[in-house]
Amino acid sequence: MLSFDDFRGQSAHIEQLRIDFSGGANVHAYLFSGPRGTGKRSVAQLCVMAALCRGEKKPCGECGPCRRVLSGSHPDVHHVLPAKGKQSIGVDVLREAIEEVGVKSFEAGAKAMIFPEAHKMTPQAQNCLLKTLEEPPQGTVFFLITDQPGALLPTIVSRCRVVRFHPLSQEEAAARLCALGLPQAEANQRARMAEGCVGQALEIGEEQMALRRSLSQAVFSIRRPGDVLAVVNDYKDDKEHQGQIMDMLEGIVRDILSAQAGGAPLEGAGYAREAEAYAQKAPMTSGLALQRAVMRARMMLGSNVSFAAALESILLVVSEEYTKWSW
Ligand SMILES: [Zn+2]
Repeated sequence: MLSFDDFRGQSAHIEQLRIDFSGGANVHAYLFSGPRGTGKRSVAQLCVMAALCRGEKKPCGECGPCRRVLSGSHPDVHHVLPAKGKQSIGVDVLREAIEEVGVKSFEAGAKAMIFPEAHKMTPQAQNCLLKTLEEPPQGTVFFLITDQPGALLPTIVSRCRVVRFHPLSQEEAAARLCALGLPQAEANQRARMAEGCVGQALEIGEEQMALRRSLSQAVFSIRRPGDVLAVVNDYKDDKEHQGQIMDMLEGIVRDILSAQAGGAPLEGAGYAREAEAYAQKAPMTSGLALQRAVMRARMMLGSNVSFAAALESILLVVSEEYTKWSW
């Protein structure tokens, strides 16, 4: 089982949360904000367990309430999510959830209402929640969790204790992934791909890692403008992954720039040899040219230029750079 200690690096308030929840000194509403994969949901779950735990060292993870929270079956812990097939949390869903919390608790302890994607509440739903937060039901704690705090009404935010979560450094994230059982090399790659967000690093699939390697190979094998079309053709019809391909290109260029600037070398990050050679041979000005190309391609996509044309524009810059630095 995870413990509060596992998340110390992600927020300055982890220890305080542990003390407050295991001692019954928590406030009634929390806003956990920070990038995806930084431990917000896991910490909310630990807080709820600590509040409900009947063990000695809270949360023990072994008593009945702890087990029920862990398995998602505790009757006093409610998760508020969009209704099936909906993108947002409407006022009807919220009213129903609040009514449910309003009734007596099943296990005669604290009750919790968790919003794993609080930003999905419509403004009407937020206003409805605001009334509840102003006069909170006895013994109920609210967790608003989001990576988009700007989508919440300021009046809601001001009613919550705000706890910010941060990514770890890549070294720390890799160490955490190792502790969770990943081999060192893979942990390093995943930590880098997810920019230190451990939760995201764990979600990266084998397929995604393979795509990243093959993409870095295809891009940095380009030697002349005539090579560009074949690479564009390989990727242009992969509609499902187009967004991911742009993100990956941006990530590759960022890692190359960082290596060129004296940061972590590209070796061991899961890229193809061709990309490593480029990072070694081409100077930072070249990396910056590539970064500009990726930014321009993103703008092109934003103004409805085709993915093929946007990708081609990046690859033509790679061919220009090859004539200068031939890695
Ligand atoms: Zn327990």
